[in-house]
Amino acid sequence: MIDFNVPPYTERGEEYVREAIANHKICGDGPFTKKCHDWLEKKTGSKGLLTTSGTSALEMAALLAGIGPGDEVICPSYTFTSTAAAFAIRGAKIVFVDIRPDTMNIDENLIEDAITEKTKAIVPVHYAGVACEMDKIMEIARKHNLIVIEDAAQGVMSKYKGKMLGTIGDYGCYSFHETKNYSMGEGGAILINTGDKDFERAEIVREKGTNRSKFFRGQVDKYTWVDVGSSYLPSDINAAYLLGQLEIADEINEERLKNWQTYYDNLKDISEIELPTIPEECEHNAHMFYIKVKDLETRTKLLAFLRESGIGAVFHYIPLHSSPAGKKFCRFNGEDKYTTKESERLIRLPMYKGLKEEEVLEACKKVAEFYGK
Ligand SMILES: *Cc1c(COP(=O)(O)O)cnc(C)c1O
Repeated sequence: MIDFNVPPYTERGEEYVREAIANHKICGDGPFTKKCHDWLEKKTGSKGLLTTSGTSALEMAALLAGIGPGDEVICPSYTFTSTAAAFAIRGAKIVFVDIRPDTMNIDENLIEDAITEKTKAIVPVHYAGVACEMDKIMEIARKHNLIVIEDAAQGVMSKYKGKMLGTIGDYGCYSFHETKNYSMGEGGAILINTGDKDFERAEIVREKGTNRSKFFRGQVDKYTWVDVGSSYLPSDINAAYLLGQLEIADEINEERLKNWQTYYDNLKDISEIELPTIPEECEHNAHMFYIKVKDLETRTKLLAFLRESGIGAVFHYIPLHSSPAGKKFCRFNGEDKYTTKESERLIRLPMYKGLKEEEVLEACKKVAEFYGK
């Protein structure tokens, strides 16, 4: 059996976890969290804070952006629940826009039509770690005075025109869930691209609305409740686990890209399926390898065949506008030309740190076999 996903593990990360425990420093913002923050800043050029999940990074962004009841937030319907839920929880109305069939990302050319007087933010999702058309999205945002929150949950280490994803909008949200390229079990990070003052506010929002971070740095002599906030900081144990991977992030990225390319090279001649498109301005991180088949019926058959053959293949994202909560909190602007249709054709193949080349080849062989090749 070839698993669909295996959580990333490093021996170094395990040693760090033991060290965190031995240090008696297991709450948030300990030495390992600090090292992860240093890594984020060095790698992306933006200041970031670890959070308890990608979802809580998005929730923090919603708070910092001042999203409230009656505001509208634009995002794709083809995404993970949290992209919308993090704003719906603030009372915002979610407005969906169709995706582009080539990258499965929000269609930047349809965004402007969805903007109303109530629109406050755009939340592009970098699906599979492949960037949305950010130049166009930022141009629209500037023109209409909107905040951009990048859902870069899948985009750690990916770039758009040389810029790290998560550093282009006002805020960038990463996930370190066990299904992502770098993991701390449950966790994430928010990048603040709006300057030092807003970063200070982010520290407060993350620390239950208190100025405790300033207190720890000796900048104030006692800490107190100063703003809205919640508890969004993860345990230093989780940060320790993550640091083991961040230290070898380039190596992990290369390994994933190699497997991605092996999939691509071995599947590209099967005319019945479509492979992912990587636009020229994007450097991706091989977060996932997906194929698209003819239709839902073919997908059901191929998935069953792959599972019988011991290949852990899955599909995902029932478009949010067709979910019960989606119907309640959201509206779809314009025509659903691709969101539903393309989502029904997609299959994800195994992809994780440690996946072997022969396993990739075996998965490719089974796909070929299904098509009688
Ligand atoms: C994983 C993911 C999230 C949520 O991250 P968690 O860490 O699981 O909360 C949000 N958006 C997208 C696109 C994701 O893939």
